[in-house]
Amino acid sequence: MSHASHLPQALPGHPHIARQGATLMIESLPAAELARRFGTPLYVYSRAAIEQAARAYSDAAGDRPIALRYAVKANSSLAILQLLARLGWGFDVVSGGELARVLAAGASADKVVFSGVGKTDAEIAAALRAGVQCINVESLSEVQRVNRVAGETGVSAPVSLRINPDVDPRTHPYISTGLRNNKFGIAQSQARQAYAQCAQLPHLRVLGIDVHIGSQITEIGPYLDALDRVLDLVHDIERDGVRLHHLDLGGGLGIRYADETPPTPAQWIEALSERLQARGQGHRQVLLEPGRSVVGNAGVLLCEVVTLKSSLEKHFAVVDAAMNDLMRPALYEAWQRIEPAQARDGAQALRYDIVGPVCESGDWLGRDRMLDVREGDVLAILSAGAYGMAMASNYNTRPRAAEVLVDGERAQLIRERESLQDLMRGERPLEN
Ligand SMILES: *Cc1c(COP(=O)(O)O)cnc(C)c1O
Repeated sequence: MSHASHLPQALPGHPHIARQGATLMIESLPAAELARRFGTPLYVYSRAAIEQAARAYSDAAGDRPIALRYAVKANSSLAILQLLARLGWGFDVVSGGELARVLAAGASADKVVFSGVGKTDAEIAAALRAGVQCINVESLSEVQRVNRVAGETGVSAPVSLRINPDVDPRTHPYISTGLRNNKFGIAQSQARQAYAQCAQLPHLRVLGIDVHIGSQITEIGPYLDALDRVLDLVHDIERDGVRLHHLDLGGGLGIRYADETPPTPAQWIEALSERLQARGQGHRQVLLEPGRSVVGNAGVLLCEVVTLKSSLEKHFAVVDAAMNDLMRPALYEAWQRIEPAQARDGAQALRYDIVGPVCESGDWLGRDRMLDVREGDVLAILSAGAYGMAMASNYNTRPRAAEVLVDGERAQLIRERESLQDLMRGERPLEN
């Protein structure tokens, strides 16, 4: 490498993550330096990247009647929720825990929608007491449950019904949610009956209709199919005499992990708006619940190579991050780009499987990657901002990673690394 200055080269699909010569940069800080300073495994997020993704949505929404509700399950760290709350976003939560988090982050409850296929009485009551905007109800039985809990709590419950539009989002089967055989939502054929039932119940206030067809969706078509089905239903439901105030079209927009070219938020919103206009529904209030596309490519997981080993068949780079830190590869066979924090000259490049130390053969983070690495080198697993830390566990009694938010030349620790005491807290020795 020469000492000539290098202009930063942003990695495709990863604004604010760039290679400057041999050095991987997160905004203005070298990834390797962050790893040294905060230890590994370490989640690092670019604040500018999150804000840029969020602004792409709000700019596209413009003055259309579109309300943005960040899907908390993609990344529920408080500082990130705070950042989005400050940008004026509301939230989509799927548990009482996520509701507590967004309230702790300063969200106003009237911008919170509560989704999820199995809400308990306690969670429903907490949402009603907090004064959430809407509860997205997922079954006929839950209609009754919300009505009963609302009666007991002494508030009228704002509800939408989540309809399963039976649309194939053409994504991974584990992240498809709007197909007939998924557990989510109320079958389209039962929707009118369900709304009729809601209208009869004293403690419900029907606000809208809700769909969410899946995640990592890379085409517009499935969204328009779902929207058409929703609009057909809206027509029928309103003819039956139930007024619907909003359409919640869920989230699911994909990001670039490898070479996908998903629609931008602007293209998605434009296409939805056009279809709504074309069907004379341009005035409808629309809620969107993006998660992955807001935070996914703003985060990386840094890890250190602990051991290099070779079998007869393969070379392995064993790193200090594992499936408990980043579950997507083990869970969905997901591919995420892996980059050295400090690139070498390539002279000793080999084809590696990058694996963690957890006692499971499913514990891999990347397969068949050409890398020139030594023990002690830092690797960055890209596109780790969504469904990374939020899915982390303590399997193998591994403390969860620390998290850092980079803002220009500043790095702020937003979550301490868990300690072993944290892990054993609450456990009790045998009594006899
Ligand atoms: C997961 C989920 C989302 C967000 O999905 P992304 O793919 O992260 O955008 C939105 N709404 C609901 C109901 C969800 O379950």
